[in-house]
Amino acid sequence: MSVFVSGGTGFIGQHIVNQLLEQNYRVITSARSQEKADTVLTNFKHNPNLIVTINGDLSRLDAFDQPFQEYGSQIKYVIHTASPVTFPLKDIEKDVLIPAVNGTKSILQAIQKHCPNGIESFVMTSSVAAISTFKESFDPKVTANEQSWNDYTWESAQASGQDGYFGSKKFAEKYLWDFLNDNKDTLKFKAATILPCFVFGPQMFDSSVKPQLNLSCEVVNSLIHTGKDEKYNYTIGKYIHVEDVAKAHIMAMQDSKFDRKRLLLSEGNFNSHDILNYLNNDFPVLKDNIPVCNPSETAENKPSKDITFENTATRKLLGFNFKNLKECVDGIAEQVLRHENRL
Ligand code: NDP
Repeated sequence: MSVFVSGGTGFIGQHIVNQLLEQNYRVITSARSQEKADTVLTNFKHNPNLIVTINGDLSRLDAFDQPFQEYGSQIKYVIHTASPVTFPLKDIEKDVLIPAVNGTKSILQAIQKHCPNGIESFVMTSSVAAISTFKESFDPKVTANEQSWNDYTWESAQASGQDGYFGSKKFAEKYLWDFLNDNKDTLKFKAATILPCFVFGPQMFDSSVKPQLNLSCEVVNSLIHTGKDEKYNYTIGKYIHVEDVAKAHIMAMQDSKFDRKRLLLSEGNFNSHDILNYLNNDFPVLKDNIPVCNPSETAENKPSKDITFENTATRKLLGFNFKNLKECVDGIAEQVLRHENRL
């Protein structure tokens, strides 16, 4: 029996596929074009346990119809990671809100249509963006936990690109819980959602390293490429390692103790100074070439200057220690510098 993973071309999706293959699962993943599907197959060295199928754009309500029509009878678990990760400037509704919600609708409706009784569990990548507004995420007076939800409406989420992304994660996750509730007499599969903060760590494959990385890893990549006296975007937030994120998805898929749980994945605080600290200390090639860190401004081991995430329940349920910030930052830098022949 197989695991279907949506978003197998993405940063997190590729790590999930990799860990599933390592655990000898048969994996069916999807990409939105044949070219991208071929890249995934090449990256995974045409592993015989991997099938890459094509889904449409997530905005289409039939995005997952074809993959589930073809493979539905073989699918036992579904991990839904695909969603736009962008802060769009132009059309917030079209670029993030609609694809995030319709992607979730589409995959659930495809299950309902093609394999309503065959699925054992469904795990979806939500985000800490679903549990606070963008503004609240910078407010040290706010604490959020596994029960929290932001209060965006469809309209208020269109105030800015950031609000749009935060709204998209809430509406998509809410759709899942409402759908399960509405269909509780017919759909019996277990479900869990994973809510990561900034996900750091290396791309699954060096070939995915581009001048600009995915949104979260670009926070580190941009500092690697900022000159010593150049201005940089100051970032503050919480971090989690991509391998821990993938592991949590798979554990939630496997164990019924995660049924109806929201797992809030955050290891600790960071800001740009912490990242610069590791880059300067751990990579001699960067020393004197990038800005220096201000030791009094590092965040890693201090009370947060932004929102607090209370995730004791998640840590207890998962029962493993998350990787630290040094592993997150160094994992990205080592891969990027190796790719640029600078190591
Ligand atoms: P990526 O951008 O690397 O991956 C996103 C995936 O979704 C890709 O496979 C992408 O396909 C697919 N996708 C996006 N938009 C569409 C669309 N309109 N139609 C079809 N496919 C689409 O991001 P991540 O791996 O970082 O994110 C994966 C999930 O994790 C998302 O749900 C995101 O919200 C969530 N998340 C990420 C965090 C992070 O810090 N990275 C933090 C919290 C949550 P393609 O390759 O073709 O673009």
